[in-house]
Amino acid sequence: MSTSSYWEERFKLNKSVSIPTVMKTFEDTGRVRALTNELEDGEKQHIFWESDLAKWSEAVFLHLQKEEDPELMQFANSVIEKIINNQERDGYLNSYFRFYEPENKFTNLKVRHELYCAGHLLESALEHLKINPNSKFFAAIEKYIDHIAKVFGTEEGQKRGYPGHQEIELALLKTYEYTKKDKFLKLAGYFLEERGKQPHYFELEDQERAAKEKSIDYSEFPSEVRDFVSQHMSGLKRNDHTYCQAHQPVYQQRTAEGHSVRALYMFTAMADYARLTNDLDKIKACKTIWENITNRRMYIHGGVGSAHIGERFSFDYDLPNDMAYAETCASIALIFFTERLMRIERSSEYADIIERALYNVILASTSVDGKAFFYDNYLECIPEFLKYQHRRHGIRDKYHTCSCCPPNVLRIIADIERYIFAQAEDGIEINQYITSNKEFALNEGHCSITIDSEMPWGGRNLITVSSNTELPIKIFFRIPGWDRSVNILLNGDPIHPNRKDGYFEVERVWGKSDQIEIHFNFSPYLVRANPKVRYNANRVAVFRGPLLYCLESTDNSEHLNQYLLRQDPEFTESYEDDILAGAVYLKSTGLKSEFTEDTLYSVDKPEKIPADLILIPYFLWSNRGECEMLTWILEDVN
Ligand SMILES: [Zn+2]
Repeated sequence: MSTSSYWEERFKLNKSVSIPTVMKTFEDTGRVRALTNELEDGEKQHIFWESDLAKWSEAVFLHLQKEEDPELMQFANSVIEKIINNQERDGYLNSYFRFYEPENKFTNLKVRHELYCAGHLLESALEHLKINPNSKFFAAIEKYIDHIAKVFGTEEGQKRGYPGHQEIELALLKTYEYTKKDKFLKLAGYFLEERGKQPHYFELEDQERAAKEKSIDYSEFPSEVRDFVSQHMSGLKRNDHTYCQAHQPVYQQRTAEGHSVRALYMFTAMADYARLTNDLDKIKACKTIWENITNRRMYIHGGVGSAHIGERFSFDYDLPNDMAYAETCASIALIFFTERLMRIERSSEYADIIERALYNVILASTSVDGKAFFYDNYLECIPEFLKYQHRRHGIRDKYHTCSCCPPNVLRIIADIERYIFAQAEDGIEINQYITSNKEFALNEGHCSITIDSEMPWGGRNLITVSSNTELPIKIFFRIPGWDRSVNILLNGDPIHPNRKDGYFEVERVWGKSDQIEIHFNFSPYLVRANPKVRYNANRVAVFRGPLLYCLESTDNSEHLNQYLLRQDPEFTESYEDDILAGAVYLKSTGLKSEFTEDTLYSVDKPEKIPADLILIPYFLWSNRGECEMLTWILEDVN
């Protein structure tokens, strides 16, 4: 890893290693053969496989928008060709239902994923359209969307349904913004506004379908899905619609409930729809939910959805560390939702949350070699304990049966530029300090901005602005929440621009090579959790810049909860290349508590003996084999 272009390396790794690795597992497991109905005996198609391929191809198209690669383009085109070859005359497009259950199309929206798959296909096709104005892929998916718009709606003869797994709503709104075709906005609005109304569509659908449909074999699904199905299909919670956020109309919801990825995809669409229809009440509802998530239900690393059973949000301050679910997809969706709110109002708090999730969950989700991925993102890992819980035990997998996370990571890394810059009506925002370059077309002329950043290892950022217009341009430079004392220099001289909403506002006629320099304080600092978070009493989390740090047993020893950080601990930074090249480690002299006699219980207090602690960036944990890991470290409070 080079210090000045960490993200460039990460971006290249995504394209050169992760994209082919994920496709290889998709091919090996039959996802591509399923499109041509060529599965072998014993192989079984899953209803959401097309969404995996759609996310993979979307990541490819996002990369190809930035850099041509005819070979990759040809391969991706061959995959989408197979997808669209399954389109039926009326526009319907889902290979599972085409081959296996043609009689059951759109009859079980609550559980099955047709509309979810359609949403991912639309998102991918939209990125294909941006490269190919005559995209056959987009034309096919648009035809499918037209079919969906005929089937669903409030007119007589239409089904008043909506997806059990939301996704299509945000895809439709993205497509509306690019194509300006009202039909996409209208259908998204219908799906959002219809959700949660009475009589409840999912209950009507259940009644209609009862006894007609083949039962689904969930035996190959991950344990959390099986647990959920056994609970929800038994009838006990069958009509509890919080799981898929259909318990009340969406803009009446005030807290984040249910399956975290479904919820956050829906909130993303809700924020877009509120903005596009300029509805202030709807905007307020979205902000209330965002506050509930980020102030009550989000882990320190930006993970959300703490309950493993149901992959869902639970209740305020319930953030278990060793049983954390915190699915990678949920953090990706939190980034989507937050970015949509950033489009509505400027506040550095939004970019802070995006940064938190990006630098910790998203980077952690992929192994340093780019070939394996986390699904759950624990804050504490004791492999033996997790094995007894039938959970994944802190090793990134090459493949998950339910493989939603890996291709989702591919596409967010491929689209990283979206989170760096934003062009607002009153100027250009720099929201993340990531080495990159972007050209902005302005009303008169253009402006180019180059960021050369040491993040995540150092706090020095050089931003070069080059403009060919004589008009002043306002540029907003985000001030991260973790370093409000930062100063800013223009061409080497300190300046004191207006600070508003967590941004420096610098307005001037920019020259051909004006340079802004911003240095962040990268001294390690401690974060404490609200005492209502019962898991984190007397514990601290260590940060350096945006990076959360953790202990691994590899560098320390097992039983990490024996270690204590001293109050006001001193840290030294270490750049040794011996284990994880390029990373900055932290060392601190702490304590280790031990019984004099190795008994299970004692009336005597444990001894505290000096111990050297080594902390590594959380996102790099579990790259050296199975081990214990701890983020919230005990503090010596005596
Ligand atoms: Zn996922």
